Amino acid sequence: MPFCLKRCGYCDFCSSVMSESAVADYTAALVRNIAAYKGRNIAADTVYLGGGTPSLLSESQMSEILAAVDDSFILDADSEITCEANPCTVDLKKLRAYRSAGVNRISFGVQSCKDNELYRLGRLHNFKQAAEAVGAAQKADIENISCDIMLGIPEQTLDTLGESIDKITALGITHVSAYMLKIEDGTPFDCNEIRGEVAGDDELADMYLYAVKRLSERGFAQYEISNFSREGFESRHNLKYWTGEPYIGFGPSAHSYFGGRRFFVPPNIKSFISSPLQIEESEDEAPNLAEEYVMLGLRLCKGISLDRLKSYGFNTEGFLREAKLLERNGLLRIFGDRIVLTAEGFLVSNGIIARLTDSLEK
Ligand code: SF4
Repeated sequence: MPFCLKRCGYCDFCSSVMSESAVADYTAALVRNIAAYKGRNIAADTVYLGGGTPSLLSESQMSEILAAVDDSFILDADSEITCEANPCTVDLKKLRAYRSAGVNRISFGVQSCKDNELYRLGRLHNFKQAAEAVGAAQKADIENISCDIMLGIPEQTLDTLGESIDKITALGITHVSAYMLKIEDGTPFDCNEIRGEVAGDDELADMYLYAVKRLSERGFAQYEISNFSREGFESRHNLKYWTGEPYIGFGPSAHSYFGGRRFFVPPNIKSFISSPLQIEESEDEAPNLAEEYVMLGLRLCKGISLDRLKSYGFNTEGFLREAKLLERNGLLRIFGDRIVLTAEGFLVSNGIIARLTDSLEK
């Protein structure tokens, strides 16, 4: 859902401020594209409305979109249906209508409990509104609730991060995504003034390790680099991306992995609205499955299996040698057949994954 009330200075997602009539046209295009899958007997057990700000959809637009999904796919009775939400765009009436339309999981972009930090991010809500939005979702019978917490916000300290973790997890939620603020090229945050104010790499690393520990003390177990949940509340949808299961994406910038092919929709909102069906461009035609498995699997706390790597036809001797070196440096652990990154390893996961995939030999 590539629309927001206002653009945040740090965001580089495909999203713009859209008029009500443009959102209506977008909804129609989305429904048209979903309906194109009707009759193909494709089963699904998770649906994820991401953004942008999907919670800007009216009650009837949400119900139209989910009715199209239900009509075009074979939806499991206990499907996980998530909607991302900006706390200042929902109230009890809207959340009740979303629940009736099928939404049973909400992911709120809370980010912090400190209003000065929210202001620095350019967010439109304060913490009181965020807490009220979570309460309204619970009242609307949506109990599976995730909140985003951001690390490295200007003016944030370890103390205020700890306060955010405590206050946000105390709202009775089931899941937390903790992301580090990254300054993306070309965004309003990409300037010397902001770069000079945000946490440096060492400070950010301290914040990450602190968040992992504090969230665990509050009952939220880490299951992926940036994701933590109460037992049994891992995001079923997002796990599919990391475990190589198929998914179909709709809308500008959406990626898909379906029928053994990876493809994406170009990030052009106007063209998505005006095209009879979304344009889909193929990604790499011959992906290296072993590399993909290492890259995605090492994001997860359960890590990867050496036997599975071997099943792709690779000799894992060099890989294991490299893994043992990294283990000596405290960056990963080897348990029998499995290799898992430590919290310190997650901090430098890109480098580790590059080293390990370079050591794979046919
Ligand atoms: S609300 Fe979310 S998607 Fe929209 S601009 Fe802000 S961070 Fe980006």
